[in-house]
Amino acid sequence: MGKEESSRDKKLSTNKLTRRDTLKLFGTGTLAAAVPLLTGSSTADETKRVDVAIVGAGFAGSVVAAQMARNFGKKVLLIDRRNHVGGNAYDHYDCNGIMVHKYGPHIFHTNSRDVYEYLSKFTEWRPYEHRVLAKVDGTLVPVPINLDTVNKLYNLNLTTDEIEQYLESVSEKPEAIRTSEDVVVSRVGRDLYEKMFRGYTRKQWGLDPSELDASVTARIPVRTNRDDRYFTDTYQVMPKHGYTRLFENMLDHKNITVVLNTCYREIVKYVPYAQLVYTGPVDEFFDFRYGKLPYRSLEFRHETHDQPQLQPAAVINYPNEHAYTRVTEFKYLTGQVHHQTSVVYEYPRAEGDPYYPVPRPENAALYKKYEALAASRPEVHFVGRLATYKYYNMDQVVAQALTLCAKLSGATRGELVRKPPVLEPTAALRPTAN
Ligand code: FAD
Ligand code: UDP
Repeated sequence: MGKEESSRDKKLSTNKLTRRDTLKLFGTGTLAAAVPLLTGSSTADETKRVDVAIVGAGFAGSVVAAQMARNFGKKVLLIDRRNHVGGNAYDHYDCNGIMVHKYGPHIFHTNSRDVYEYLSKFTEWRPYEHRVLAKVDGTLVPVPINLDTVNKLYNLNLTTDEIEQYLESVSEKPEAIRTSEDVVVSRVGRDLYEKMFRGYTRKQWGLDPSELDASVTARIPVRTNRDDRYFTDTYQVMPKHGYTRLFENMLDHKNITVVLNTCYREIVKYVPYAQLVYTGPVDEFFDFRYGKLPYRSLEFRHETHDQPQLQPAAVINYPNEHAYTRVTEFKYLTGQVHHQTSVVYEYPRAEGDPYYPVPRPENAALYKKYEALAASRPEVHFVGRLATYKYYNMDQVVAQALTLCAKLSGATRGELVRKPPVLEPTAALRPTAN
């Protein structure tokens, strides 16, 4: 370990307190007793308040924390109930020394220069283009559907010029494109829909595609050429030393205190704060006043195999067989060289940690009610995938968090990313009573 790295780790460990740390420091004390330590005060008095308390150390919470501390000199308390930072993007070395993503494969891709440049302050990157195959009718075919997918599945020899006409001839013409079924059948017809989308979607969401918004399957394009990349974004890269390292770099600042293993409710009542940023599930924040917002969950089964490679691609999708939807082999994503290989199977679940908001009209209507409640609490900022009930990728969450910081500071997002730190906060960032 280099000298620079070890001093960084030392600094981090002084700022990162777990519940056990706080109890160790305060004997049999409670979290309330730990508050003076967290706020740097001998008593939890008003003069030692934190400027911003942030719930959730995923991309949403961590970007806001880093901005507030680094650009505005704010004192930040970042709380997460998990035992690590990074939210669902958390990665780590498994017991065989292979880097894995604990909560399923996270591939970074964005068209936003702001987002890419912002994150580049905290990580180097490794170029990576993601490729996915689906097992259909006993063969492996590219996803998204492209020229090779169609030719392989139907034993055809179409050219790029011919495939458009072919798809036109098999496609259906629904009156309007409202659902995830409409999107697919209107583009590639019913047979391809049934081979590639219907089973996968029913497994993943516990709903038929006809019960889900068009936006869900519209995430997957259809290509008439042979491009077999999953994404076509301008920036397709993976953090060179992993996501967790990226987060640690973001949060390594004297103004940021990270408390893990702790629900924010246990702690914020003892910590005076000026602003609260909340990135957990929005319905939970309001004690489910209007009922539960549906979130889809997953169970992850991690495995290591005694061979250097298991699959012919990073991800294999199983639309029509098995209880799992897809299997990911991490070494493709990370580029790690190792004599063994680790994979993860994803089993969709109705219960468990909330991973996906479920995009359909009745859920949007329920979310609107929570959104109105959120708007009635101007001292609380709701940001991120769970708090705004949006099926967002990582880059969209980073953009949303940067936009919030820009709004609070009176700068534009581009200025925030590219200009040197602004230390004079606008009125929105000055302490108010809570
Ligand atoms: P989260 O990462 O969920 O962080 C929220 C944090 O808040 C959590 O750590 C949670 O513990 C904490 N929290 C909640 N309530 C409380 C509380 N009461 N007290 C304290 N802490 C609390 N995006 C991509 O761009 N590319 C991908 O390839 C990709 N793959 C994905 C695969 C899977 C299986 C999943 C589930 C998501 C994937 N995503 C991907 C999406 C990505 O995970 C999210 O966009 C991103 O992680 C959201 O960040 P966030 O900060 O909003 O939420
Ligand atoms: N999908 C599908 N078959 C596939 C891939 C995707 O039916 O082979 C549908 C499915 O409904 C899925 C959605 O498209 O939930 C979005 O896929 P994506 O890979 O973006 O899902 P995520 O990575 O967010 O789980």
